[in-house]
Amino acid sequence: MKSSRILIAGGAGFLGSHLADRFLTDGFAVIAVDNLSTGSKRNIAHLQNNDKFTFVEADITDTLPSEITDQTFDIILNMASPASPPHYQRLSLETLHVGSQGTFNMLELARQNKARLFHASTSEVYGDPDIHPQPESYKGSVNCYGPRAMYDEAKRYAEALIYAYRDRYPEVSTCIGRFFNTYGPRMDADDGRVVSNFIVQALQNKSLTIYGDGSQTRSFCYVSDLVEAIVRLINSEESGPINLGNPGEFTMLELAQKVTDLTKSTSDLTYLPLPGDDPTQRQPDISRAKSILNWEPSIDLDRGLKETIEYFKTVGK
Ligand code: UDP
Repeated sequence: MKSSRILIAGGAGFLGSHLADRFLTDGFAVIAVDNLSTGSKRNIAHLQNNDKFTFVEADITDTLPSEITDQTFDIILNMASPASPPHYQRLSLETLHVGSQGTFNMLELARQNKARLFHASTSEVYGDPDIHPQPESYKGSVNCYGPRAMYDEAKRYAEALIYAYRDRYPEVSTCIGRFFNTYGPRMDADDGRVVSNFIVQALQNKSLTIYGDGSQTRSFCYVSDLVEAIVRLINSEESGPINLGNPGEFTMLELAQKVTDLTKSTSDLTYLPLPGDDPTQRQPDISRAKSILNWEPSIDLDRGLKETIEYFKTVGK
């Protein structure tokens, strides 16, 4: 029997590579496409001898290569984008381009293949929210001129594009998940995110860098919980947008304390200026995910941090 085939745009990224693992386990043939601007072959090295896995180095904003257009797909995951503030700021135009042209190309491919398209959106569509926690109905508080604009507006544009596309081509099946902060093994040690920064710093007994006074909050979802939510959303009839995240909310000072304790580190704290437009609070309202997908996260922050710390110990950072 021919197995179902899935295309993962951004398949060499942190999330994309975990999704590749999951869909291979579930019996799919997986094609990962990535331009490696922030993804890494390291994340998929363990799959190189798997004959159901193919890696294509290409940019989804360009004309797609024949390794992709010669295939047929049942599912397309649009995961491709720089995602951490330092990377999307460095790759500002590329981030806008992949959110717009890249998403359009994935929609066209989904239409040609009669595939279901999953799009990775983000809590950043809510900006610095003045409603807490954030339900999907909240329209957001976003600065289109600020230092996060290239990412926030790329993701907002991508959602608008998908809504318009659905209107024009109702036969194309699409769904949108809005991810809140996600962490776990294969995070890039150098991508500047708070979880990876703190763990790497703590393991080296270097000062943990707190931006601002550390009172800002985030809600951290362990990667396997998010993967399960994505699979359930794809397998449902739901089109979204639907929040996918862990509602447990922590200040950056609380996170620093947990990381220091779990690593038994002697690190102290260094306070650095808060970057512009850094959201002061963030917590997903996951009522819809609970009722529609029968999903909620199962891994708490302590357990997820332990797994992530073990990963960073083995990669030697
Ligand atoms: N942050 C911090 N120290 C760091 C890196 C980040 O205090 O070394 C803060 C950052 O200012 C933000 C929060 O941690 O308030 C989460 O940052 P991250 O870049 O991980 O995610 P995002 O801001 O996109 O949610």
